[in-house]
Amino acid sequence: MTKYKLEYIWLDGYTPVPNLRGKTQIKEFDVFPALDQLPLWGFDGSSTKQAEGHSSDCVLKPVAVYPDGARTDGAIVMCEVLLPDGSPHPSNGRATILDDPGAWFGFEQEYFFYKDGRPLGFPEAGYPGPQGPYYTGVGFKNVGDIARKIVEEHLDLCLYAGINHEGINAEVAKGQWEFQIFGKGSKKAADEMWVARYLLQRLTEKYGVDIEYHCKPLGDTDWNGSGMHCNFSTTYLRETGGKEYFEKLMAAFDANREEHIAVYGPDNHMRLTGKHETASIHEFSYGIADRGASIRVPHSFIKNDYKGYLEDRRPNSQGDPYQIASRVLKTIASVSTGSSVSAAA
Ligand code: ADP
Ligand code: MN
Ligand code: MN
Ligand code: MN
Repeated sequence: MTKYKLEYIWLDGYTPVPNLRGKTQIKEFDVFPALDQLPLWGFDGSSTKQAEGHSSDCVLKPVAVYPDGARTDGAIVMCEVLLPDGSPHPSNGRATILDDPGAWFGFEQEYFFYKDGRPLGFPEAGYPGPQGPYYTGVGFKNVGDIARKIVEEHLDLCLYAGINHEGINAEVAKGQWEFQIFGKGSKKAADEMWVARYLLQRLTEKYGVDIEYHCKPLGDTDWNGSGMHCNFSTTYLRETGGKEYFEKLMAAFDANREEHIAVYGPDNHMRLTGKHETASIHEFSYGIADRGASIRVPHSFIKNDYKGYLEDRRPNSQGDPYQIASRVLKTIASVSTGSSVSAAA
């Protein structure tokens, strides 16, 4: 038997975006535990905005487990929060995602490293040289020294955990980076994004560095904001698609614009200004290979008879991938795919 360090992690009740929380319990197993071997656990919800003091127990239900490369015999246990009666807690966005093994999501997480209240690599006063050389840049003057070390360590932790991490790039602003995570199944990429965020935030503790997820940390300046583009497809979009269905789908996204913006991350009006390759927060648009549209339609989608994936560019870096995936699938589900509809039209 081996004593495993199980880090149960969950999302707290803060709004508009939840924070990650975690605590460790030690349990003995013969080999690395499978999900169904992991017991329910609990925590004091009155300390996480998830309960009142007089009846504060919340339940942690393991939903995914990952090897933890930072600890000997460690596991990260992603949990949903339940009420004592076993029903989903109101803060449990994951429980609102429609089950669909054919739904695939790819999230592109942008973020800043922050140290001493400013982006890593920024001078104490003023600004570094203007944007231009930093995106996909190399060399100390462009990326500094610690950032790439952290990014590489984070990549290794993600791969060790079995997360479907797809790649990294230095972003447009100094101190800003991106990674991408892709998953098949409606909850997979969102689970892995939260675990990847956890690994990143825990890793940077020892460097005295924080992750700044705000979508426009440098405010109304020419410095880049941070997004979390949401690439999505369903079995129907990949295999059947078609122009008529696509146009109905885009009309549904247009009709639900406010509902989408509500869960696409706070302060998004600061980022979605219609400038700098962003769409205006006030209108919905789509366009072929258009990085200034709300939804970018890849060339391959049109060439392939309106089949494939689409990129919603509006979600921001602080958005909750659970709430984003949930909303995207609700809008998709509101559009009929039946041939009877097109026959009648
Ligand atoms: P860009 O920065 O040009 O938007 P990236 O390579 O950073 O492109 O991100 C593209 C994303 O699209 C990746 O996360 C990828 O996994 C995702 N993606 C590719 N194909 C599909 C698909 N069929 N369904 C959902 N997402 C997809
Ligand atoms: Mn990208
Ligand atoms: Mn990017
Ligand atoms: Mn993108």
